[in-house]
Amino acid sequence: MTGPAEFRAEARAWLSTVAALRTSASWGTGDDSVAVFDNWTEEEEHAHTARGQEWERTRFDAGWGALSRAPSSGGRGLPAFYEQLYRTEEAAFDVPRRSEIFPVTQHLVAPAIEIWGTDEQKRRWLRPMLRTDELACQLFSETEAGSDLAAVRTKAVRDGGHWVLHGHKVWTSGARVATWGVAVCRTDPEAPKHAGITVFLVRMDAPGVTVRPIRQMTGGASFNEVYLDGVVVPDTDRLGPVGQGWKVTLSVLAAERLDSGSLGLDNADRAIELARHRALSDVERQQTADLFVRTLVQRLIGLRVTAALAAGREPGAEASVGKLYATETMRRTSDLVVQLLGPRLVADTGEWGTFAWTEHLLGAPGYSIAGGSDEIQRTILAERVLGLPKEPSR
Ligand SMILES: Cc1cc2nc3c(=O)[nH]c(=O)nc-3n(C[C@H](O)[C@H](O)[C@H](O)COP(=O)(O)OP(=O)(O)OC[C@H]3O[C@@H](n4cnc5c(N)ncnc54)[C@H](O)[C@@H]3O)c2cc1C
Repeated sequence: MTGPAEFRAEARAWLSTVAALRTSASWGTGDDSVAVFDNWTEEEEHAHTARGQEWERTRFDAGWGALSRAPSSGGRGLPAFYEQLYRTEEAAFDVPRRSEIFPVTQHLVAPAIEIWGTDEQKRRWLRPMLRTDELACQLFSETEAGSDLAAVRTKAVRDGGHWVLHGHKVWTSGARVATWGVAVCRTDPEAPKHAGITVFLVRMDAPGVTVRPIRQMTGGASFNEVYLDGVVVPDTDRLGPVGQGWKVTLSVLAAERLDSGSLGLDNADRAIELARHRALSDVERQQTADLFVRTLVQRLIGLRVTAALAAGREPGAEASVGKLYATETMRRTSDLVVQLLGPRLVADTGEWGTFAWTEHLLGAPGYSIAGGSDEIQRTILAERVLGLPKEPSR
């Protein structure tokens, strides 16, 4: 196996043949977007996704995608931390920015298929998802089932070799561009809450699937509500055993926590850069130093996740702390920017790097909710990491 240093050099060499190095754009020029959620029309979302897919295919076909996945799915079977080594190199190059649907497909759904899929499903789904020929969204949350996800009410009823789905999902990121939706459904209303659940992959273009964008306070609509009205799903698209969907769901949620550790770092770095370009009061200097230290600690937590993976250990505490820490970094970034820019945040005067920050301020709170709210992450830490008594179950 190629060692880490050699691997990084090879990645850098390959990247330089297919992408331009990012120029260190001088402060005050170029794109000043710090949007946390993209503010796209449907056409723009499709166009941006297509550019992302083209890049992912280039990477995959050259052997730089799916690094830690099995060679049978087009991967290289390398230890998981090689993905992070590659990302570090790629960050120096000008490649399309991944919107949420990409990590959801490659890092959340594909690994769950690897764990729970039949051989036929792995053959059918893994390669197209890792190459992003097919994209998958999470049809998990409902109006009455978010933190308490096991309370899902979307029904799936067996009809011979098929299942018929009826229900209403909300907050589905990327539903407009997804090929598949991973739907958490109730198949046995009589069974205890966690036992009556089964997971299906639903084609998003199937008759009976309706996607309606939901406007967020940022102004954009990166998530949607999805109606499932009598959607017919073949039993061959069921992921995992009937009644064991809760375990399948937990696999996806654990991967989501793992994937959240680097959230917010780019914008925190940008806010620190903003501070560097201003004369700071003592309080502002203190606040900037605090944010700077946080970015270092967050990166160290990321390295601990990497180290756990490299040692073949499932990261537990590191992953939960990472998500919680990341959302706090986003909050402190907002606080610093408000302190530094004050009234220049209020109106769009066209001044570079000022009003654009409202996209961070209004978007950041979303990540304290998405992927399990801060309160739920604290409960996971308390119960599973610190071993404190469990919350009374409902
Ligand atoms: C930007 C964004 C993208 C999203 N993308 C998706 C997606 O692609 N697919 C998908 O299925 N879902 C998605 N979601 C939904 C997300 O998973 C849920 O919003 C989240 O799980 C919280 O559920 P809820 O909104 O129903 O809030 P609730 O569960 O009703 O919670 C409301 C408040 O009560 C608190 N609370 C609830 N239970 C407890 C408890 N036991 N202890 C302490 N506090 C508690 C919560 O922390 C929260 O502050 C997304 C959400 C956002 C914001």
